[in-house]
Amino acid sequence: MKIIMLGAPGAGKGTQAKMIAAKYDIPHISTGDIFRANIKNGTELGAKAKEYMDKGLLVPDELVVDLVIDRFKEPDCEKGYVLDGFPRTIPQAEALDKALTAIGESVDYAINVEVPDDNIINRMGGRRACVGCGATYHIVYSPTKVEGKCDTCGGDLIIRDDDKPETVKNRLSVYHEQTQPLIDYYTNKGIIAEVDGTVDMKDVFNAIVGILGE
Ligand code: ADP
Ligand code: ADP
Ligand code: ZN
Repeated sequence: MKIIMLGAPGAGKGTQAKMIAAKYDIPHISTGDIFRANIKNGTELGAKAKEYMDKGLLVPDELVVDLVIDRFKEPDCEKGYVLDGFPRTIPQAEALDKALTAIGESVDYAINVEVPDDNIINRMGGRRACVGCGATYHIVYSPTKVEGKCDTCGGDLIIRDDDKPETVKNRLSVYHEQTQPLIDYYTNKGIIAEVDGTVDMKDVFNAIVGILGE
């Protein structure tokens, strides 16, 4: 099963993608996580990506596409994958289609997690990420057992550099301009599925399972 998560920054794509990956036993591929790992490890790609990420801009398509397509060649992708944060532009979606068509495959579902901009600003302010394992929490909606420490690995929690309010505003306008057109793109392909992302995380997930099947 090949799934794409669509939605504004902070809509809950990552939260849902992790649950989908666990239930359907497919890898969760997050381009944001891949870039953040590169930044942490001090790679050249990380340095290039950081320039854009810190401003709330998208990393250029040419730095993203090959990276994702190469990832599909790993053995864990045989049964499919859930893509979180990719594609984010029409050219990325076209490159994905081209690569899949070449091997006789296609995306099965594009799930759009719908959350209005006002809720987004509120959510991003409370998002916390673990420096150790990348797990995501929210100070109100998904708190850790011990304040400031990851439930999974005990690592420290931080506010992502790009979750500052000024940057979130930029990311939202970049989303509306460059990523939202993908909703029409996948609607035209007949594989879009919309879910209400404003309800409790578990209820969002139940709606997704209703679409993907048990
Ligand atoms: P969020 O989950 O909050 O939307 P991500 O972790 O997906 O954020 O992405 C963080 C940043 O990484 C983006 O603002 C962008 O700069 C960069 N990025 C991630 N995926 C892509 C992509 N497919 N194309 C371009 N830039 C990307
Ligand atoms: P995205 O990957 O789309 O940027 P995340 O999954 O990281 O979004 O979620 C953004 C923030 O909102 C996180 O702090 C997360 O814990 C929280 N969150 C996710 N889904 C919900 C929900 N349904 N209700 C309330 N908060 C949520
Ligand atoms: Zn952790």
